[in-house]
Amino acid sequence: MQESIGKTTTAEFLCPDCGAINTISTQLLGEKYRDHEMKCCQCNHLLEVVVADGLRDSVNIIASSVEENTAGR
Ligand SMILES: [Zn+2]
Repeated sequence: MQESIGKTTTAEFLCPDCGAINTISTQLLGEKYRDHEMKCCQCNHLLEVVVADGLRDSVNIIASSVEENTAGR
């Protein structure tokens, strides 16, 4: 895999709950196909974010809200 250093890759996704634009960190972009939990910058809901490969150099970001009420598994 070839990655040019210094290239800043930022990605945004919409919160499924409130529609606010959240920015995803470059560190998370490097960890594809894994679940990342982060909070929406606006409504503070817990979101499950998965970074997937998109077309060409772009990435697909799948965000879904997590029910915080369900305690434990
Ligand atoms: Zn939100």
